[in-house]
Amino acid sequence: MTILNSWVTSANHADCPFPLNNLPYGVFSVDDGPRRLGVAIGDRILDVASIADALPVNADVLTDPRGWNGVMELGQADWAALRAALTAFLTDGAMPRPDVLVPQVGATMHLPFTVSEFTDFYASKNHATNVGTMFRGAQNALPPNWLHIPIGYNGRASSVVVSGTDIRRPWGQLKSPADDAPRWAPSRRFDIELELGAVIGQSSQGPISLDQADANIFGYVLLNDWSARDIQAWEYQPLGPFQAKATATSISPWIVTAAALAPFRCDTPPREVELLPHLRDTGPMLFDIDLEVTMNDHTIVKTNYNTMYYSAAQQFAHHTTSGCPMRVGDMIGTGTISGPEKHERGSLLELSWGGEDPIALPDGQTRSFIEDGDTLTLHGAAQGEGYLIGFGECTGTLLPALDDPFGN
Ligand code: MN
Repeated sequence: MTILNSWVTSANHADCPFPLNNLPYGVFSVDDGPRRLGVAIGDRILDVASIADALPVNADVLTDPRGWNGVMELGQADWAALRAALTAFLTDGAMPRPDVLVPQVGATMHLPFTVSEFTDFYASKNHATNVGTMFRGAQNALPPNWLHIPIGYNGRASSVVVSGTDIRRPWGQLKSPADDAPRWAPSRRFDIELELGAVIGQSSQGPISLDQADANIFGYVLLNDWSARDIQAWEYQPLGPFQAKATATSISPWIVTAAALAPFRCDTPPREVELLPHLRDTGPMLFDIDLEVTMNDHTIVKTNYNTMYYSAAQQFAHHTTSGCPMRVGDMIGTGTISGPEKHERGSLLELSWGGEDPIALPDGQTRSFIEDGDTLTLHGAAQGEGYLIGFGECTGTLLPALDDPFGN
């Protein structure tokens, strides 16, 4: 496939993240106006409720106060019909309607959907090996279950915030390797995790197949799972991360649909141990998506989602095996995406090897973990032939800890 041209001419460029091929879904407002559902096209946002007559879905879902949840509830046939109608409306040759467009500059973006539940996984073998080596030694790096099931934990939907939201350094009970005893203090090892979030677009009851799981994923967002490593190291055994991951989880404002990403499907790497039949790959369910992290506009990570050991569909299918009901608006974090090379490591914990080997920034600065005032930004795009399927940005700035919340 090559670029599809639109009458919105800013979309017709090889380096535009939002060409007609993409059409990601977001929620925006202008000035102090109401929140509206929108589609990114070039440097504009199409206000979908204003063209409800031209779209094959009930107008009510286009003004859903929850965001895109109502559209997701309609199901796969309506997702495809809506995308086809939006493509026809915006295609070069259709009647231009600049009156239904809003400039992205000046619009405020909100969470694109109401997050029902949030589960986060641990599905990069490079990441799991790196972290396991630091926390438990090279001999015990990969837990014995790791090659058989996607490891996850139930996170907090309430922690999810949209890109651009400032993040406050948390206090916690923490114990760094250098500490003899736990203490109550602001986290000193606050970190990012470069991830994607898979947005579940259909509810289910009981176990579902890998193919059904893949079909129920509406789209993907960039996701930063902010993590307090000193809190995590002390609390994580035996039930996994808890307060270390509860401060905030940032996502990018645009849901890039699975349909837009279809040309970029790819296989998971060869299995080192054959999976049980219900988790075995039935087709390409990973995606070739270039990912980058910048700290204060300096690139610190470059990798690709295609390095993951498990696909989001495998994580989702495994999630349902016990009968766990899934809801529209559930979000599954892929887990930190780390490729095999050092510059591909998707967390500062790995980049600085637990603080032993700080990374270099311009002007002679170094970082082991995030300092107050640092801005961390995730970037992502699939590279087509002369076009991009861009995710936009997922950014956040770390604010200093407040005074001791308990006044001690
Ligand atoms: Mn994570």
